[in-house]
Formats: sequence, C-alpha cells, structure tokens
Amino acid sequence: MRTLDTLVDRHGDLAGRTVLVRCDLNVPLEAGPGGAKTITDDGRIRASVPLLSDLVGRGAKVVVMAHLGRPKGTPDPAYSLAPVGQRLEQLLGTPVRVAEDVVGESAQEAVRAQEADRVVLLENVRFEKAETSKDDAERGAFADRLAALADVYVDDAFGAVHRKHASVFDVAQRLPSAAGPLVAAEVEVLDRLTGDPERPYVVVLGGSKVSDKLAVIENLLPTVDSLLVGGGMCFTFLAAQGHDVGSSLLEADQVDACRTLLESGKIVLPVDVVAATAFSADAEHDVVPADAIPPDRMGLDIGPESVRRFADALAGARTVFWNGPMGVFELAPYADGTRGVAEAVAGLSDGDGEGGGLTGALTVVGGGDSAAAVRALGIGEHRFTHISTGGGASLEHLEGKALPGLTVLED
Ligand code: ADP
Ligand code: MG
Repeated sequence: MRTLDTLVDRHGDLAGRTVLVRCDLNVPLEAGPGGAKTITDDGRIRASVPLLSDLVGRGAKVVVMAHLGRPKGTPDPAYSLAPVGQRLEQLLGTPVRVAEDVVGESAQEAVRAQEADRVVLLENVRFEKAETSKDDAERGAFADRLAALADVYVDDAFGAVHRKHASVFDVAQRLPSAAGPLVAAEVEVLDRLTGDPERPYVVVLGGSKVSDKLAVIENLLPTVDSLLVGGGMCFTFLAAQGHDVGSSLLEADQVDACRTLLESGKIVLPVDVVAATAFSADAEHDVVPADAIPPDRMGLDIGPESVRRFADALAGARTVFWNGPMGVFELAPYADGTRGVAEAVAGLSDGDGEGGGLTGALTVVGGGDSAAAVRALGIGEHRFTHISTGGGASLEHLEGKALPGLTVLED
C-alpha cells in the first residue's frame, strides 16, 4: 500500500501543492438551544489532526473532504460540516475555511484563493448524489471534478474504505494517491489478525445477530484457538445444541449454520445467563443456567460463571480480537458480562502491543457498539492495543473481502 512517503518519493515534495484528503469526520451532533449544533464526541476529528497538521507543516495546501450523516444526495443544512470545521480549526490551530458546496463555485474559489497555511473543508460530500451512486460513469464524472481541485490525494478515512464511493475509490484513480497514517495503522493491525498471529489466539464475539457475523466467524475459525460467543448471538448457538432459549434473541434460519460451526470444537458458549421478564432495566431478572432458560424469560447478558470461564479462556492469550458486547450493556443490570470480559481482555495488554508489559498481548477491539461500550463502561481505551475506528470496514476486512478503498491504494 502506498504511503505518504511513497507519494513524496515518486511525485516530489508537497510544499505549495494542493493535497486532497479524505477524512472520517462523521461525528455525533446534538441540536443545542437556538438550533445550533454541538459535537457530542469529537474523537474522529481529533484522530484526523496528526495527518492534517503534518501536511500543513510540509507547506501543502490541504483540502479536506468528508461526509456527515446520511443526507439524501442534496444540500441539507442539518448535515452541514460547518460545526466540524470550527472544531477542526480549534484543534489544528490553523484557519479552516468551510466551502459552501462540494465541487461548485464556492469550493473552486476557496481552493483558488488558498494559501499554504490555510485549510479548506469542502461541504459534506454526500450533498452530491453521485458520491454514492452505483453508476460508475456518474461517480466518475463527480470524481473528475474533485480531482480537478488538487494535485495529490490521501485517504485517511478507514471507516469508509469498504465503500465504492467517488471520494474513496474513484478519485484515488485520478490523482497520485496514498493511504494516510490512520488507514495504514488499521490495515497493519487487522493484517496481523488474519496473517500469522501469535498464539494462543482467542476471538470473542457478541452483539445482536449471528447473521451479521457469520462470514467473519467462518473466515476466522480455521485460524483461532478458541472462539468465545456471548451477546444476543449465543442463543442461536444454544438452540443449535438443543436447548430451549425462552424468548431470547433467536435466528431460527441460522441454527443449522451454528450447528456446523460447533463441530469445530473451538466454540465456547456461556454456561449461565441473566434472564429477564422483559427488555427493560426494571424487569425482574435472575441468573439461570444457559441450558435451562425459562420459557417466559429472555437472556440479556452472560452470567458471572460464564465471565469467569471466558476470562480463564483468555488468560495467557497472545492475540485477542473482540467484537460485540456480551449483553445489553446500555441497560445497567445487563452490563456486567461486557465489563467483565472487557476487563479480562484489557488486562492482557500493556496497551502498546509491543510487549514489555505483563504479557504484552495484541488486543484489538472492533465494532461501533463495542468501542462505545469500552468508553461507556469507563474501561480506558489505552488499555487495548487498538480500537478500530471503522466497524463495518474492519469486519469486512476480517471476512477476507477486498475493500475497494484499499485496493485502489495498492501498487
Ligand atoms: P458492534 O457494533 O460492536 O459490532 P453489534 O452491532 O453486533 O456490535 O451489537 C451491539 C448490540 O447488541 C448492542 O446494542 C447490545 O444491546 C445488543 N445485545 C447484546 N447482547 C444482547 C442480547 N442478549 N439480547 C439482545 N441484544 C443484545
Ligand atoms: Mg453495531
């Protein structure tokens, strides 16, 4: 994969040149008093700062493009990047001018008038319906206009690399292009999980649906030493073992697939679950054996004995990938399973994955809700080697799929 160094080696110094950068600035916004938007979590903006300040430091004219939310292919003030531009300006300490459109008069004028220590932020790329079009020619024509704004292109938006979108895929074919440091770091870590990981290699999966994760399970199962399954998806596995799961989440059409996966002998299931009378924090709930869930109860978390067994299975692991909460962690009575497993994983790593700590295991957390759980439960993000920023992209990468936004950055 081409990096910034490759780009400079081949195309020369970036001073005075216009660098178009695709960032992931898709942050959660809340409407404050008077309708002004406030950013509730600026993590993605902060993560984008190192590359942007590096480029500004090199004397490049930086033009940033990003999407925000899901506008319907037309300008919509509710999804304007203006508040993001303000925050980026504060964090970067460099003036950021937000264009009023993506490739129109305003964007062209902003780029024309740009000086080297100024940043231009194009408006939300999804204001143009060609951005996400399935039609190659339509996307291509839009990408031509984006490419016309700049000399080179850098993609630092890992969360979007699985999308065949104009700002991710097509524009990279039209300019000298490279991966930014966030994309490079994600790919390096995920490649370590699928390549020749240090053993024991333990994968922990949870979350809501087996059907979402089946492809990942199938691709990882041959490489892992054990696969611990919790969350909503464990009930389909328990059903495949012939157990009654009450009113728990169950995907009846996946039972056969789960039965086949169980034949690997590598899958570890919960032995107890927190079973509630309803999907609610106030519902009556008790710990019951996983093979004796009462018909009128639903399992909303793994139980304490399961947490102990999962922690035992994790002890001594050198490589861990964890995706999907163990229970409905958003409701306090069902958060203990996720907290317990997160602590067990975090305890394996000294946080930098380079060894030298207690065991120095490589610990990777993937998935939007899993990353949110780590933050919400106060586990401390630094206690893991890596928390993947792009949920969908990281899962597709682990499924072994070729991702359009990465393929296009490879020689
Ligand atoms: P990620 O985003 O990390 O990949 P998912 O999107 O697959 O994770 O799943 C996260 C959701 O799974 C959470 O909102 C959580 O409440 C839900 N969940 C976990 N365990 C259960 C359960 N036992 N029953 C229903 N939902 C569950
Ligand atoms: Mg999710």
